[in-house]
Amino acid sequence: MNAEIIAVGSELLTPQRLDTNSLFLTEHLNNLGIEVVCKMVVGDDRSRLAEAVRGALARSEIILLTGGLGPTEDDVTREAVAAALGRSLVFRADLLEWIEERFRRAGRRMAEINRRQAYIIEGAEAWRNDNGTAPGLWVEHDGRVVILLPGPPAELQPMFLRECLPKLERWAPRQVIRTRVYRVAGMPESDLDQLIAPVYRKYANPITTILAAPGDIQIHLRARCATAEEAERLLDELGGQIEVLLGDKIYSRNGESLEVVVGARLRAAGATLSVAESCTAGLLAARITEVPGSSDYFLGGFLVYSADLKVRLLGVPRALLDEHGVVSEPVAQAMAAGARERTQSTYALAVTGVAGPSGGTDAAPVGTVCIGLADSTGADARRFRFPGDRARVRTVAVQTALDWLRRRLG
Ligand code: AMP
Ligand code: MG
Repeated sequence: MNAEIIAVGSELLTPQRLDTNSLFLTEHLNNLGIEVVCKMVVGDDRSRLAEAVRGALARSEIILLTGGLGPTEDDVTREAVAAALGRSLVFRADLLEWIEERFRRAGRRMAEINRRQAYIIEGAEAWRNDNGTAPGLWVEHDGRVVILLPGPPAELQPMFLRECLPKLERWAPRQVIRTRVYRVAGMPESDLDQLIAPVYRKYANPITTILAAPGDIQIHLRARCATAEEAERLLDELGGQIEVLLGDKIYSRNGESLEVVVGARLRAAGATLSVAESCTAGLLAARITEVPGSSDYFLGGFLVYSADLKVRLLGVPRALLDEHGVVSEPVAQAMAAGARERTQSTYALAVTGVAGPSGGTDAAPVGTVCIGLADSTGADARRFRFPGDRARVRTVAVQTALDWLRRRLG
């Protein structure tokens, strides 16, 4: 079954307030196998809201609205939903009594406007609100259900968990959602999509979404089935074909980041790592050490921005710098070898490049990055040309260095 969420409130259309209720609701709906296919934010406007509800009813079985249930004139959710369903509002004396009782217990007198909250949509079930005065409503209509929940998260969440969730569980046929996240490095998004689209397009279930960040692509597969076994089988079936096509370009099958994967392999091998960074100036070390426990395998590194420090701290021969330039494979190689030798690490990665926007030369135009990798068999270097601005070149350089080490670790 599909659900739509409509967050009601003009304040949610300003830069000051964000609809967070739908995130809470979506997580719980997904756990029931209910997919959220559309979310909307609508201001406090009766006719626009009624219009939105009619649209949602035409598409989905479950419509959840949050907010706009307060006592004031600008709270229009009850009226708008009633209009969309062609139902009237009916007064419920028991709800009014309950609201009055809440005020009495708080030592206050109920204001006349709170009477509005005792009106419910004809045929609805009303839920009491433990943390406020607005009742929640459940209205079944032509095989669909429209659910109205209060806006304040402190009121919505307990009411949803206590009243709505168990009822939805009984009302909606049981389904499960299972997901798988592949992560891929070293491949442009368009190349990747061209390769795997013919496979995933054959499947409406699982749904495939591709999220691209610089040097890092995530492939999300989402299967919705009657049983977990069936969902896993579908994920295996589609995932298996994607794995064959992408091979070792896939670095993670469970959404783990590249630094986590590399760290786990270093730890498993009982190996250590050091770095020498020029154009990334610490970004590589920062990525590696984002992983808790990275001190098990990461020794440290050298931040050698100037040519002089490359010579003094890493022992890069000055002749090499003069002959090939700072951004060159021989220099990257010598930086990696120098870092490894000085730290006694098993592996060393080195990065030297031109992140731009200035500083490019004919020999090394902006975006040129040379990466070195040293291990017990010697030192090696590769030259790349990354597109994009300074931030992107630096990010992709780090990603590429980590991915080379991942492949070396096997
Ligand atoms: P209402 O029920 O429309 O009177 O909403 C009362 C208050 O609840 C608002 O001022 C917001 O602070 C909060 N609220 C309403 N809708 C949302 C939402 N979708 N996500 C987070 N907070 C909300
Ligand atoms: Mg409001």
